[in-house]
Amino acid sequence: AARTAALTVTGPGTTADGHAVPLLANVGGPQDVPAALEYGAEGVGLFRTEFLFLDRTTPPGEEEQEAAYRAVLEAFPYVVVRTLDAGADKPLAFLPAVADEPNPALGERGLRMLRRHPEVIEGQLRALARAAEALPVELLVMAPMVADAAEARDFAGLCHAAGIGRAGVMIEIPSAALRARDLAAEADFFSIGTNDLAQYAFAADRQVGALSRLQDPWQPALLDLVALAARGAGGKACGVCGEAAGDPALACVLTGLGVTSLSMSPPALPAVRAALAAHTTEQCRRAAAAARAARDAATARRDARAELPGLA
Ligand code: PEP
Ligand code: MG
Repeated sequence: AARTAALTVTGPGTTADGHAVPLLANVGGPQDVPAALEYGAEGVGLFRTEFLFLDRTTPPGEEEQEAAYRAVLEAFPYVVVRTLDAGADKPLAFLPAVADEPNPALGERGLRMLRRHPEVIEGQLRALARAAEALPVELLVMAPMVADAAEARDFAGLCHAAGIGRAGVMIEIPSAALRARDLAAEADFFSIGTNDLAQYAFAADRQVGALSRLQDPWQPALLDLVALAARGAGGKACGVCGEAAGDPALACVLTGLGVTSLSMSPPALPAVRAALAAHTTEQCRRAAAAARAARDAATARRDARAELPGLA
């Protein structure tokens, strides 16, 4: 009964002592909006835009993009859109040049691909700016696969030229976490993609199930990188939008590491909301310290949970 009650908790994300941690939804297009609303998302923390570009031989026109973006932007007060994250791992028929790489995860994916085909990202940014124009939404746009400050600067320049005021970067490459301070000087916010950050930190392909031990987001090395990124943000917003954010205990640990918002698959929202509401910022900090003091993922999980009483 206690568990059922916890899962019905609604309202904005906050710790027991009243520290706000906005709880946001990961969406893949307008079709995901109803679930995000149903589970009480305060906004969208990751709008993956690949759906518009898949399975077609010509890119979508700017008007078609604008309509699809508006369908998400009109439903929420706050939306973080990610520009196209394509590459040989997620190939696009109209961009055949990137299809033949021997190491797709290390190739021209994400922002790297967009830099080679600037017309794609420029069209996307124009469509986004127009879609948001007449809406009350706070629009933030971020780039995937940003490796260094120069890339962050280029991306922010493209956003501002298109009329988008808030340009951020995903932290999903270890170099970006290590030099977060440099990136924060160029970008307005961070969003940590723990799925790719784990893949690149452990050199473990996220599509290879046999390597799942190295994809475990409780790995202390991954938590160290998250802590570096949050500290390097220097007061700018630093969310997490990888799968890790949807684990209630880990959500508390991420909060304790200094992460400022959590974005996840909508059904994960109620349990995370309940876990945060049941613990203070100080408990979250202690859980984070315990996890980072561990030498392996299983110990990190166990020791963090010992600081977070009452989690199912
Ligand atoms: C991530 O890498 O953690 C992320 C959120 O992006 P994607 O899973 O779409 O690569
Ligand atoms: Mg990613």
